[in-house]
Amino acid sequence: MHTQKPIVLVTGGSGLVGQAIKKIVYETNAYSHLQFCFASSRSADLTDPIKTNQLFENLKPTYVIHLAARVGGLYKNMNEPVQMFQDNLDINSNVIKACSKHLVAHSVYCLSTCIFPDNIPYPINEDMLHMGPPHPSNEGYAYAKRMLEVQTRLYNGVQSSTEWIMKGGLKGGLMTCVIPTNVYGEHDNFNLEDSHVIPGLIHKAYVASTQNEKFIVKGSGEPLRQFIYAEDLARLILYVLLKYKNRGKPLILSTPEESEISIKDVATIIAKNFGIDAIEFDTSFSNGQYRKTASNQRLELALNATDTPFTFTPIEEGIGKTIKWFKHNYNTARK
Ligand code: NAP
Ligand code: GDP
Repeated sequence: MHTQKPIVLVTGGSGLVGQAIKKIVYETNAYSHLQFCFASSRSADLTDPIKTNQLFENLKPTYVIHLAARVGGLYKNMNEPVQMFQDNLDINSNVIKACSKHLVAHSVYCLSTCIFPDNIPYPINEDMLHMGPPHPSNEGYAYAKRMLEVQTRLYNGVQSSTEWIMKGGLKGGLMTCVIPTNVYGEHDNFNLEDSHVIPGLIHKAYVASTQNEKFIVKGSGEPLRQFIYAEDLARLILYVLLKYKNRGKPLILSTPEESEISIKDVATIIAKNFGIDAIEFDTSFSNGQYRKTASNQRLELALNATDTPFTFTPIEEGIGKTIKWFKHNYNTARK
């Protein structure tokens, strides 16, 4: 592909976060100096090092936003520990090696607040990732994702200490890990068994309201989570790629601690949208980690330092938009 504009390769471009980035990029002029390429698993299976390398060889990206991953909710993590570990380890390692080999100037990688130690003092901050084992329910995913932090940090050590000239004449070739909290929004996976809680409950509430069935929430509803709307996360990832001053230093991308909400309250917001009055809790299902409260203080400081105003979408609004989208796209939505 020949173009004058620097190329941004977005792996996982067909997923929840990738689609949100696509929407943000094409709705303003702010990114018109860049050429975005949104890759899915059909563009290249990134568990395969040769295909990964070919994708980079063809596109010659200056920037990479690496989102591709084997992703799922609590019950997928519990049911597929080996795949969650192996696929993510392979995909991430292949992409990091390709970014280094092809002299990518800045690449951004996604960790998650759910890979942090289970028993640590809250709130979680960026320095606590390796301070203890993760919650047993997502051990495979968590350790694979933790290696992403280790591998990028080691590569950064070598690349930033050399005089490598990267694409666009930039020196360094840094790799930055971002740490999103639970994400939700349009284009999510709404599967009833293996999705995350918000899309899973939206689909369940849709079925309950259209087929006059009970609305059943797995677990006790007591666990606490922070949620970020995918378009908010998309804006923040683009900020980290292009404006973040501390390239190479991990950054939590989350709503503030005060936004933490119980699963029961999330289910109530969803139920209200569908006109459902009664919610039942099936406590035979695991609750997973009770909480993973994350501090977004460094993000707030970084945004202030670069004079970047930012407002998070309130959860009621984000869920409302997601439900509208799901109803409108029921036949084609991932489910
Ligand atoms: P998603 O909706 O499940 O999308 C996953 C993406 O990865 C899809 O584009 C998929 O392509 C691609 N992919 C999967 N396996 C692949 C392979 N072997 N080769 C190439 N591409 C492959 O995921 P998401 O929710 O957008 O997550 C994006 C990133 O954020 C991930 O790194 C995830 O770990 C992280 N994250 C997510 C959450 C959350 O709550 N969702 C929270 C924290 C962090 P196809 O469409 O072709 O299958
Ligand atoms: P986690 O934050 O990584 O644990 O991921 P999830 O998005 O899967 O949220 C899990 C929490 O939501 C647990 O407390 C579950 O018991 C609860 N939950 C309730 N109903 C569902 C559901 O239908 N799907 C999922 N994934 N979780 C549910």
